[in-house]
Amino acid sequence: MNMSLQGRTYVVMGVANKRSIAWGIAQSLHNAGARLIFTYAAERFEKSVRDLAATLEGGEESLFYQCDVTDDENIMETFQQIQNDVGVIHGLAHCIAFANKEELKGDFLNTSRDGFLTAHNISSYSLTAVSRAVQPLMSEGGGIVTLTYLGGERVVPNYNVMGVAKASLDASVKYLAESLGKHGIRVNAISAGPIRTLSAKGVGDFNSILKDIEERAPLRRPTTQEEVGDTAYFLLSDFSRGVTGEMIHVDSGFHIIGR
Ligand code: NAD
Repeated sequence: MNMSLQGRTYVVMGVANKRSIAWGIAQSLHNAGARLIFTYAAERFEKSVRDLAATLEGGEESLFYQCDVTDDENIMETFQQIQNDVGVIHGLAHCIAFANKEELKGDFLNTSRDGFLTAHNISSYSLTAVSRAVQPLMSEGGGIVTLTYLGGERVVPNYNVMGVAKASLDASVKYLAESLGKHGIRVNAISAGPIRTLSAKGVGDFNSILKDIEERAPLRRPTTQEEVGDTAYFLLSDFSRGVTGEMIHVDSGFHIIGR
């Protein structure tokens, strides 16, 4: 089987800057020959995304769209526009999450209703909304990948409401895999180890989470953007054609450690 993604087009959602995991995924897909479409949350991110894409060889062929995943109309319009511009899409990487900073420290018991709903709206429901919008464009089948974290499976200090939103996202991956499997579309998650990104900065005492990985994970080193990018490439390529509804941990093996 050919590992090349030449002739295929992928939507990458969630590049904010060069540290974004989405950027790691974009680079892996690009290196495999894919054509890329970027979506960003708001106009203020556009320049940074365009500048990054311009660093890729042939990056000028990339396309860019603004898409705020809290806005159903914006989502529908974005994918309608992508359909008009390119027709068929072969896969999508959903690399989007948000929770208010106040909810990412202290006691989970103090989570507010608004904070709970915001985290779930942006970090979990958005996968379902986006999957519904992209399905008509994936007429040749393909893959959807999202990013999750161990904090959805176990209690991680300070991860709080985002952990509960990730648990909801993880369950959504399975239900979406069942909904979309009949259309030849696979849906999987990568559970990434901690990586220093804009979003990660919001999690209280993130440094100690990172240090823990370096000291106790089987591989004794932090997870990189590139490692997550290459696993996304696998999940969006035909090499994973029998895999759906799955979660792959890319975390130096940290998730297997008992204590
Ligand atoms: P990041 O801050 O670079 O990316 C988060 C992205 O979400 C940003 O591009 C932001 O603009 C986007 N976003 C937020 N609200 C949005 C909205 N309403 N509409 C559209 N986009 C919106 O951080 P990241 O760490 O690369 O995060 C990407 C994904 O990886 C998230 O789901 C995150 O939970 C997950 N993840 C991160 C880590 C880590 O340690 N960094 C570990 C595991 C999983």
